[in-house]
Amino acid sequence: MSEFKKVAGLTGMKDTLPPESASWETLEALVRDWLAGYGYQNMRTPVLEHTRLFTRGIGEVTDIVEKEMYSFVDSLNEDRLTMRPEFTAGIVRSAIEHNFLYDRPRRIYAMGPVFRHERPQRGRYRQFHQIDVEALGFPGPDVDAELIIMLARLWRLLGLADIRLELNSLGQAAERAAHRAALIEHLEKHVDVLDEEARRRMHTNPLRVLDTKNPAMQAMANSAPRLFDFLGAESLAHYQGLCARLDDAGITYTLNPRLVRGLDYYNLTVFEWVTDRLGAQGTVCGGGRYDGLIELLGGKAAPAVGFAIGMERLLDLWQQDGAAPTPAECQVYLVHQGEAGQRQAARLAEALRDAGLRALVHAGSTGFKSQFRRADASGAEAAVIIGGDELAAGAATVKWLRRDAADAAQQESVAFEQLAHHLKQRI
Ligand code: ATP
Ligand code: MG
Repeated sequence: MSEFKKVAGLTGMKDTLPPESASWETLEALVRDWLAGYGYQNMRTPVLEHTRLFTRGIGEVTDIVEKEMYSFVDSLNEDRLTMRPEFTAGIVRSAIEHNFLYDRPRRIYAMGPVFRHERPQRGRYRQFHQIDVEALGFPGPDVDAELIIMLARLWRLLGLADIRLELNSLGQAAERAAHRAALIEHLEKHVDVLDEEARRRMHTNPLRVLDTKNPAMQAMANSAPRLFDFLGAESLAHYQGLCARLDDAGITYTLNPRLVRGLDYYNLTVFEWVTDRLGAQGTVCGGGRYDGLIELLGGKAAPAVGFAIGMERLLDLWQQDGAAPTPAECQVYLVHQGEAGQRQAARLAEALRDAGLRALVHAGSTGFKSQFRRADASGAEAAVIIGGDELAAGAATVKWLRRDAADAAQQESVAFEQLAHHLKQRI
């Protein structure tokens, strides 16, 4: 035994091992196909960015920037860096830096880990994964609707029912300013029920105060002036344009006038998809329009809209339905005896792979019994046996592992040169 005291992984940062990792890969492949169906293209940005990108892009007075970011000073050059807590700011930074919006609007997606220092619990981790989709340069509401219709398709593809859509409109800056004044007045009137965080935020980010989960503040939040009631004709028309397209697509939604979302950059459309099947962390996807962000981050003004899906929560739902597949390790498991048998099995396995089959050659223990146990545990459809008799006959014994024991064709002899073709026809 080594003297080294073993090191555990970090709190809130999960390892994903087989077979669960196979569900992740299946989900990722399905998501890429789904996105391709709508013409979304992949963009890969670094995990690390300058801290000021997020403080500016997400907003100083937000949960993320106030208390959730993994930030540090680079010991080599003193840069202040942050591990991305979300994708949007990095994608917008990159689009500006590469003049990517110069000639035309873009449909972009990214998928991967993001980092937030939160209290870990079911559906809430410190490293988690997002599917992030951004439509850059489109004023909407047609593209707002496209994003939501796309999401409804994803839930259908995954066989997920009971995820409901909540919508709101945050209007434009002038409308938010008028509402803000009325809201601050309301908060000041109810200052006795506000918790410490709410008091701190009531003048800097009063809208966020309404997003509270504190039960003692619900009555105050419910009676607060609603931003939706401050919307002018243009904002309302945008909202109604979105609703009309959702109606066309047969998508049901509810207006939730208290929906504000945890980031500062949103205007007009905001939405969340929520479920009751994930306990307290019921939001699977959140998104909205952020027409001011590109300019705020130093680019030429352009409208944009996007969303992020929490992949752990999505997978949790998928697994609850028992629909998340856990593919077998291989389709064919080759067992063998002696060095000549092992070498023949290895050659045959290559031929099987040429035919597009997933094949695994046993390695390690030599006894037939333990080899068969492994073959069975691998989930393979068939075991291929290469022992002394098979070598002499130039034909493998094929044993079907998942078929009825009464099936007479359970075991058969197949010439080596026929094996790949034979198995390919039957698997
Ligand atoms: P919440 O209200 O749950 O904190 P949020 O508003 O902070 O969510 P967003 O920034 O909108 O979340 O992120 C988009 C999605 O990412 C969420 O809807 C959720 O599914 C997922 N998500 C957010 N934080 C976490 C986390 N700590 N662990 C796992 N998934 C998360
Ligand atoms: Mg959060």
